[in-house]
Amino acid sequence: MNSSPAAIEVMNIRREFRTGRGMFASARPVRAVDGVSFALPAGQVLGIVGESGCGKSTLARMILGLLPASSGEVRVDGRRLDSMDRRERARLIQPVFQDPFSSLNPRRTVEEIVSLPLAAQGDVPRAQMRERVMEMLARVGLSAEMAGRQPAQLSGGQRQRVAIARALVLRPRIVVCDEPTSALDVSVQAQILNLLAELRRELGLTYLFISHNLAVVEHIATEVAVMYLGRIVEQAETDTLFRGPSHPYTRALLASVLTPEPGKGIPDVGLGESYPDPANIPPGCRFHPRCPMAENRCQSESPEGLVRGGRLVECLLA
Ligand code: SF4
Repeated sequence: MNSSPAAIEVMNIRREFRTGRGMFASARPVRAVDGVSFALPAGQVLGIVGESGCGKSTLARMILGLLPASSGEVRVDGRRLDSMDRRERARLIQPVFQDPFSSLNPRRTVEEIVSLPLAAQGDVPRAQMRERVMEMLARVGLSAEMAGRQPAQLSGGQRQRVAIARALVLRPRIVVCDEPTSALDVSVQAQILNLLAELRRELGLTYLFISHNLAVVEHIATEVAVMYLGRIVEQAETDTLFRGPSHPYTRALLASVLTPEPGKGIPDVGLGESYPDPANIPPGCRFHPRCPMAENRCQSESPEGLVRGGRLVECLLA
């Protein structure tokens, strides 16, 4: 874990919600994200991995301001995101989502879609807007003739390039990529990953990269955080984590089938027990019912995240 000044800091962020409504509301809240903290220096890529239901997409939505946090805060360059208005926040942080088809308005042209964030700022002259859109389309590998097309006239890879151009046209500091290649054919996935890596270098971007695909994360991330039931249980530089996973859950993940069908989540982590219900988090170490190394005390003692040698591990045996 890098100790340079942070471009983005997430401080003890939590999100609880109740399922059902009124008298049918569940008595116990679902703790979807349960005290996540990290700091990421500019130009780095934090890969966030975990099985479906671990809270990684809820975390992304809170960081983007699309979902309010129950507590905790997010800062970009030292400033709280929740103290900013939408326009200011949009200049600092932008998303790229999994499915470019549903995130692009089918009735708009590519040029209109990419210019929308500039138009929403309200102070960019029209001529400059066009120039910036065309420049961004060229950067993401789309020719000028694509500007007049609509999403249905584009391939999946081209649509994701449009979504990336739209995210980057305001030159944000942080880009939150939530499964950005999962809906694409394998051959196209590599092109989009390479494009994201190239844009990061050229524009000095910082990414949070959420994925269930460990091979993709290993390829693009400089640091990896492993989430389990709403918490980060291990975080380290990518090489360190992939060469020597320390937490029993990380070991199980790395030993699992690494590249499942797109969008299907990690199919089998070989732990026997299925993923627990986030509305019913086990006491003690939340991983203990599935942990092959669990001891008696793991049922009652909660491990704190310990940082040693630049690596965070949340396990009593660490
Ligand atoms: Fe396993 Fe115990 Fe460590 Fe939890 S604290 S990961 S149950 S060994």
